[in-house]
Amino acid sequence: MKYIDEYRDREIAHKLLARIAQRAQHPWVLMEICGGQTHTIMRYGLDELLPRGIELVHGPGCPVCVTPLEMIDKAVELASRPDVILVSYGDMLRVPGSKSDLLSVKAQGGDIRLVYSPMEALRIAQANPQRSVVFFAIGFETTAPPNAMAVWQARHPGLTNFSVLVSHVIVPPAIRLLLTQPGSRVQGFIAPGHVCTVMGANEYKELVREFRVPIVIGGFEPVDLLQAVLMLIEQLEAGRAELENQYSRSVLPEGNVPARRIMHEVFEVCDRKWRGIGAIPQSGYRLRPEFAAYDAEQRFGMEVGGVDEPAECISALVLQGKKKPYDCTAFGTRCTPQTPLGAPMVSSEGACAAYYQYRRHTVPS
Ligand code: SF4
Repeated sequence: MKYIDEYRDREIAHKLLARIAQRAQHPWVLMEICGGQTHTIMRYGLDELLPRGIELVHGPGCPVCVTPLEMIDKAVELASRPDVILVSYGDMLRVPGSKSDLLSVKAQGGDIRLVYSPMEALRIAQANPQRSVVFFAIGFETTAPPNAMAVWQARHPGLTNFSVLVSHVIVPPAIRLLLTQPGSRVQGFIAPGHVCTVMGANEYKELVREFRVPIVIGGFEPVDLLQAVLMLIEQLEAGRAELENQYSRSVLPEGNVPARRIMHEVFEVCDRKWRGIGAIPQSGYRLRPEFAAYDAEQRFGMEVGGVDEPAECISALVLQGKKKPYDCTAFGTRCTPQTPLGAPMVSSEGACAAYYQYRRHTVPS
């Protein structure tokens, strides 16, 4: 298949569903890692089209959702300073921190600029030499290379008024955590195709070997996801645990080598806290010491202690596939996209936003 329409083709989707129904002899619990995949599943109602007994649960792959509360608080603190221009992706604006959010700071006069690329943040820094420009660098392995490139480019012309507030996270350690938790129900994973496009398929081999769990790297269109489900079910029914690549039109075994190179030149792996979930060893990136001059936390001497999520928000359980958004008592009442209590209701990749947007307020019948 060559064109996007083919990956949304109703006939192909129904053929795949028929094959899934034919192969699935047992109940299975599968997790799609990425929030983009969750939104496709909800939008097209794929979970309701699958045979009874095949349950899809949603993983932690929403970058906005897992950015820790403390980091939101730091961004709010920076944006409140008159000498700072905070540059961010638009999704972060309405994510609640412990006391405020960036949108409120902007409404009170904070200079917050929204961009689609970190390179725009560099241009803002060049155009405003009297101000400190801080880019809020969040996301998975997909956004890490362009963010690394921005830091690298800032160093070479010697741009001194640019820094980054880094909150990058890495997918495989989160899968490891999910697999080692007591009572984990997930029997197969759909890995995120865009992350694997950067990092390569090979990254997931160790998890498959160590935990004997099938992982299929999947795309983001309905046909991609149904094909990935079929590949997982075929493995599970046959007692196999292998790494397979459904998204082969984009993912190579070694990934995008130049992107990985720049990323590893600028960032190093570190322990990182995930919102709601807690600290996961070796699950994030931070700037290497040679790039410390571009670290906003160091430049502004920032320290924010641990802060708690609103007690009502069960996003930690939603992000680990243990609960569905409709299990939350605040869902659709006290928590809506207009009045979000937690990040998964704000983000365009959040599971709660997906359920709300596609009117999935109750357990599917
Ligand atoms: S519905 Fe709102 S409060 Fe409930 S888990 Fe989702 S984000 Fe949190």
